[in-house]
Amino acid sequence: MARLDLNNIAKSYHAVDVIKNLNLAVDNGEFIVVVGPSGCGKSTLLRMIAGLETISGGDLLIDDARANDLPPQKRNIAMVFQTYALFPHMTARQNIAFGPEVRGECKSATREKITRAAGILGLTPYLDRRPSELSGGQRQRVAMARAIVRDSDLFLFDEPLSNLDAHLRADMRTEIKALHRTLGSTIIYVTHDQIEAMTLADRIVIMNKGKIEQIGTPAELYDRPANRFVAAFLGSPSMCFLPGKLRHASGGAKAELGENITIRVDKLAKPVEQAILGIRPESFVLDQDGPIRMTIDVVEPTGPEVMTYGHVMDQKVRCVFKGRPDVCVGQEVRMRVDPADIHLFESNTGNRL
Ligand code: ADP
Ligand code: MG
Repeated sequence: MARLDLNNIAKSYHAVDVIKNLNLAVDNGEFIVVVGPSGCGKSTLLRMIAGLETISGGDLLIDDARANDLPPQKRNIAMVFQTYALFPHMTARQNIAFGPEVRGECKSATREKITRAAGILGLTPYLDRRPSELSGGQRQRVAMARAIVRDSDLFLFDEPLSNLDAHLRADMRTEIKALHRTLGSTIIYVTHDQIEAMTLADRIVIMNKGKIEQIGTPAELYDRPANRFVAAFLGSPSMCFLPGKLRHASGGAKAELGENITIRVDKLAKPVEQAILGIRPESFVLDQDGPIRMTIDVVEPTGPEVMTYGHVMDQKVRCVFKGRPDVCVGQEVRMRVDPADIHLFESNTGNRL
């Protein structure tokens, strides 16, 4: 069992507040992914949970018991870092066995655990190699095996795949997901990779400047971002933002973007003078009767789709068109967007309307 509660957790270095009154409840067996820009406090948060960093304020509860002052070795938490931190002079097996040996666990039990972890992670043929004789992905798996043999209920991962190439990342992602299913452990996983966040998480936590902007399932965050920051952060290429006025219209509502561009939006509580329309690149649809006129600046065919960069009035817009539409640089195309695919934000606060 590993339940985790962070109640008003704060961290400051000297006078600098790095984490500010952060609240998060993690259920037993949940897979939480933490994302956010570099420097927003993700690693600091993990290190406080692991006990590698003191907590400046608030309460950390592990299985309902206050753990703020519990030494790291008593927390039974396994942590995997971005740099795998393997001992170069030891074989994979010795690296994996190191923790249990230091803890004085019985040798035959350790052997069994290593066999099992190596089996789960496909490491069996490589156990007698040193790190220098292993690929990046294999080293990463040794680091994970070392975490698995801790028999811990709580795993913390700090950008574990960021040193791997794209192909290996995808493979390892699948393995981590399978590992979670097999072990049923609670996982808190930090990444800056969108796909990892969307595919691995039961819930995603989006952090910004030491605070949580939004917590929710990947679908909740993607479909109903609470504010502009979350909207811009999730999704690649990221959401486009167009300023406009929101007005009631017959049978619904409309947004006036200027230069005679008026588009339908979902119904509105009240007119808004300064709103921001958020539209994902894949929500634009080429339509010669569509209200949005875009002048194309760059066309990038990727195979299954065409990425198109252009501008609508003086606003930069990115579009992703499926298939092989006939578009070229300098052309003015017309597009429409389904009202349900338009996110509305208040201009001043950036909050969702
Ligand atoms: P992230 O992992 O999200 O990139 P970190 O948690 O590593 O961010 O860092 C958050 C902030 O805390 C950064 O501004 C960083 O400079 C600062 N910080 C981290 N560790 C220390 C430290 N030991 N002393 C002072 N400032 C630190
Ligand atoms: Mg970090």
